[in-house]
Amino acid sequence: MPLAIVTTIPETRAAIRAARSQGLSIGLVPTMGALHAGHRALIHQAREETGYVVVSIFVNPTQFGPREDLARYPRPFEKDIEACSQEGTDLVFHPSPQVVYPPSFRTWVEVHDLQDRWEGATRPGHFRGVATVVLKLFNIVQPDIAYFGQKDAQQVRILQQMVRDLDVPLILKVCPTVREADGLALSSRNQYLDPEQRQAATVLFRSLEEIQARVGGGEKDVPSLHRLVEDRVNATPGARLDYAAFVHSDTLLPMERLEGTVLVALAVYVGTTRLIDNILLTT
Ligand code: AMP
Repeated sequence: MPLAIVTTIPETRAAIRAARSQGLSIGLVPTMGALHAGHRALIHQAREETGYVVVSIFVNPTQFGPREDLARYPRPFEKDIEACSQEGTDLVFHPSPQVVYPPSFRTWVEVHDLQDRWEGATRPGHFRGVATVVLKLFNIVQPDIAYFGQKDAQQVRILQQMVRDLDVPLILKVCPTVREADGLALSSRNQYLDPEQRQAATVLFRSLEEIQARVGGGEKDVPSLHRLVEDRVNATPGARLDYAAFVHSDTLLPMERLEGTVLVALAVYVGTTRLIDNILLTT
């Protein structure tokens, strides 16, 4: 089937109705474009598991703060379409901001508590924008399965909560983080890094690996693990720690001693670019 590129909600609904009438299940991969191998892995999994694969490409203005990179966020649309096509996407939904947020727009989705911690503390309003646009995409596409990356661990946790709380009838699947050879998690924002910063950016994964090794060796004391991250980041020119979170994977609340399933999530500025990464540990 050739790739359909649509910009309106009625066209999207019509295409999906047609696919459903052929008995196909629907997979949705929400993205902001600038697609890389991480996104492609999500599309690939959707292609394997569902009959009709929808990729949304929408740089969602409501999840950016006033001092963030909305205007300069990369938008290589032709390349993105090629990537979608190569991965066997059936439909790309590429709406304008006016289609998603008409002037009369009034309704917001907030996932309380979970939205205010970590990423939400540094980026107020970010998860309200994410949850709102994702629920809209769910309602427009009505997928059987929606695919998200573990790279954005807090986002996944918030969306799982939203799906549960609002009885959204779909399965949310979480796919592993895709990394460069040196461990750097793929991100559309990596292209902001100059060669020196690109080198410095490996501090996130190196720190996570060392934490994993220490925890494997029996370390459970969070303050000493936190110091380890601080030391590594401080020793990296151009890098500045935003936070290192050692939290319950369910509540995202911090712990003093590691116990159960622990999410270790880092946010580090490299120059002016803010990078995040995480690992899940079972202690
Ligand atoms: P974005 O375009 O950054 O909003 O990301 C769209 C989806 O791709 C989200 O579910 C992300 O978690 C996921 N994603 C981004 N980077 C990666 C990566 N390196 N590995 C796996 N999934 C990713």
